[in-house]
Amino acid sequence: MASASSSSLSTRRNRLVVPLIVCPSCNVKTIVRCTAKTDANRGRIFYTCPDHEKDGTGCNFWYWEEGYINYLKRNGFIAGEDGTYGKTAQHLDLNQDAFGRQDEIEKKLIAIVPIVREILLAVKCMLVVGLFGVLILVCVLVVVLMK
Ligand SMILES: [Zn+2]
Repeated sequence: MASASSSSLSTRRNRLVVPLIVCPSCNVKTIVRCTAKTDANRGRIFYTCPDHEKDGTGCNFWYWEEGYINYLKRNGFIAGEDGTYGKTAQHLDLNQDAFGRQDEIEKKLIAIVPIVREILLAVKCMLVVGLFGVLILVCVLVVVLMK
């Protein structure tokens, strides 16, 4: 409960929380977050065991950021929660947008309906008044002609 709320809090702060786990290969050191300094991958983030050696000796735990995140998800360290949480949130946002648009359209329709009714009423009134007007005119004409 507490961890869920704190993880969602930090998700809001950092888009994706990448926990630093105890190295699963040697079970001794805690994984460290590093930034690549090679020309090909400068600035790219990777996660490795502090015991990992550049020549491949020592502990073999080494992942690029996305690989490490996938590793964490595969092994339940983030329980696919952060990844799916983000996707769900996005879906929710999209749904809300769609609902929002629907609501707007409905509101517009609801606003238009009484206007349409009033226009129809006005047209009816005009027709009735017009008919009466024509009748009165005819009567007046008849009366005038009779004289
Ligand atoms: Zn290790």
